[in-house]
Amino acid sequence: MDPIPVAVLGATGSVGQRFVSLLDKHPWFKVVSLAASDRSTGHTYGQACKWVLSEPMPDWAGDMKIVPAVPEAINARIVFSALPADMAKDLEPRFASAGFAVCSNASSYRREDDVPLLLPEVNADHIALVRQQRQNRGWSGALLTNPNCTSTGLTISLKALQDAFGLRKVFVVSLQALSGAGYPGVASLDIADNVIPYIGGEEEKVEWEPRKMLGRLTNGKVTLADVKFSAHTNRVAVTDGHTVCASVELETSATPEEAVKALKSYQAPNSARSLPSAPQPVILLRDEPDRPQPRLDRLSGSGMATVVGRVRPDPIFHIKFVVLSHNTIRGAAGGSIYNAELLVQEGLL
Ligand code: NAP
Repeated sequence: MDPIPVAVLGATGSVGQRFVSLLDKHPWFKVVSLAASDRSTGHTYGQACKWVLSEPMPDWAGDMKIVPAVPEAINARIVFSALPADMAKDLEPRFASAGFAVCSNASSYRREDDVPLLLPEVNADHIALVRQQRQNRGWSGALLTNPNCTSTGLTISLKALQDAFGLRKVFVVSLQALSGAGYPGVASLDIADNVIPYIGGEEEKVEWEPRKMLGRLTNGKVTLADVKFSAHTNRVAVTDGHTVCASVELETSATPEEAVKALKSYQAPNSARSLPSAPQPVILLRDEPDRPQPRLDRLSGSGMATVVGRVRPDPIFHIKFVVLSHNTIRGAAGGSIYNAELLVQEGLL
């Protein structure tokens, strides 16, 4: 197939840079435009972007002139959005209405009934909402979202347990990396030698978004999963990789060995299994007593795998475990690219 032209909105930021890196040599997509704010427009990407990834900036990107984040400036089929939520709220519908498929990281539209909130390993079938959305809104394009980066690994591991035993209650404490706050993000004097026990809006997202993804799509509507969530979210001095400590009450009790078996053998739905960004395995189990750790495990499966460890009995609920997921790869740019691959494969582009 001919390469599909794509653009990145918010290309200079923490997530935007991951898009540029992951789209370099992507087998289906070719980046034709990089867009950012007025601050960067007109400069080359190499001049405007303070590149913070350890791999080098691709040559083609460094020489590309940054364009404004408006449909008139971009000639692509898919736009990957790494815009701040307030900008996304205004700009993403303009792109969808102009015929672009928007794969967004922003929270602005995740709760809308006709907008898929997608993790292909979990709810690939929810992509059918795009048809509903086109009907409701008269768009020739589409808008699909991925969840916030803390819900990502958590929801993937919960899906395996939901399928095997059913879910009732989930209690979580997160330890979230600095790159999750964007660039330049949290001031070094605030976070060095410290933990910040507050991330604005995050607990509400972690308590709601998994319920939509674990919910059932029937007659063009998602019924939220009937699971109670309680979340504490914390910022820690780690560069990349969100860790979540989870305690779970199941519908049918399970031993840690049974839970490990369910997690280890979990497979993505058929339609999502062999896409270029599909992680294999979906969930990687670590059996050392002190893993997963962000520095050691975040790049498992090229940053797309969900890494689970310390599966053990919970004295209050049934099972507790630790889950780690790379926040700017699986939790953001890599997740959006995986969603776009699903959209193409399902013939919805
Ligand atoms: P960031 O580092 O602050 O980057 C923001 C980007 O948006 C920059 O490229 C910036 O361009 C651009 N921008 C700002 N105002 C704009 C405007 N008016 N018009 C066009 N472009 C504008 O933020 P981030 O962490 O990458 O997050 C991007 C989005 O992804 C957010 O909605 C965030 O909540 C979401 N998200 C982030 C993560 C994560 O782990 N970081 C995970 C999941 C979701 P300039 O450089 O020109 O200012």
